[in-house]
Amino acid sequence: MEDFLGDLAGRVAIVTGGGRGIGFACAQRLARSGASVALLDLRPEVADAAARLATEHGVAALGVAVDITDPDAVTAAVAEVSATLGVATVLVTAAGIPGNDDAFDVTRERLEQVMAVNVTGTLLVAQAFARTCRDAGRGGSVVVVGSISGRIVNVPQRQSAYNASKAAVESLMRSLALEWIGFGVRVNAVSPGYVRTEMTRWDVENLPDRVAEWRSRIPAGDLGRPEDVANAVAFLASSASSYVVGQTLVVDGGYTIL
Ligand code: NAD
Repeated sequence: MEDFLGDLAGRVAIVTGGGRGIGFACAQRLARSGASVALLDLRPEVADAAARLATEHGVAALGVAVDITDPDAVTAAVAEVSATLGVATVLVTAAGIPGNDDAFDVTRERLEQVMAVNVTGTLLVAQAFARTCRDAGRGGSVVVVGSISGRIVNVPQRQSAYNASKAAVESLMRSLALEWIGFGVRVNAVSPGYVRTEMTRWDVENLPDRVAEWRSRIPAGDLGRPEDVANAVAFLASSASSYVVGQTLVVDGGYTIL
């Protein structure tokens, strides 16, 4: 059967937060369709993740340890990708951090930290990527990973800083989509609901009542898998979605339809 994401073959993709979790699953999905992939992640183990990707999928892969909140480091990382793998025409921004504080307790420092990674980091990498596309005269596609928390207030946990950051990510995505479609860079978002990763592992293992409440609100009955998000990301990254611009694809097992 023809792979309807076949145009990903031979393309170069950058995945932030690609060292594990949803980012790594996105990288695996893109590699399965034949893309070369650069993983950008804070964790030094990102090199091992890239090596695993290359071995398992037979594609070129690169791991770059970088803090996406550092503009110079981001510019250097994207330049390293161009020099090593070629000009990237796919970007997935999956790097992100949670922020679980009661609204009375959330500090200015915590809010700024969450915004720095989730919003500023997303913008910095998207800028470096889009500049490279523009300078090379190439189009491309950006898929930002938001969250249903950008639109609703998750319960029972308190996470106002995270919710605000994800709302900002979704709004940023629409602005970038409008400004960049004119030179062929499409920007869209995927908004996951609850997904089994390191971000949710502690809750799953230690807070059964909380997780039971999450499950009771998910029509599909359980948390999602990183691959569920990755399939949606691959669709938006590929030309299968060529007329989809500035949209958010929600992948939440139905959580937000209730
Ligand atoms: P995760 O913690 O497993 O992975 C996040 C990755 O981002 C890590 O490898 C981490 O090192 C990296 N990262 C963090 N800060 C960074 C920085 N400053 N520079 C570079 N890399 C950095 O989490 P995940 O669940 O895979 O989350 C991926 C994305 O999906 C996040 O944006 C998260 O907000 C979003 N999301 C997750 C869920 C969920 O339930 N897991 C739900 C909705 C949205």
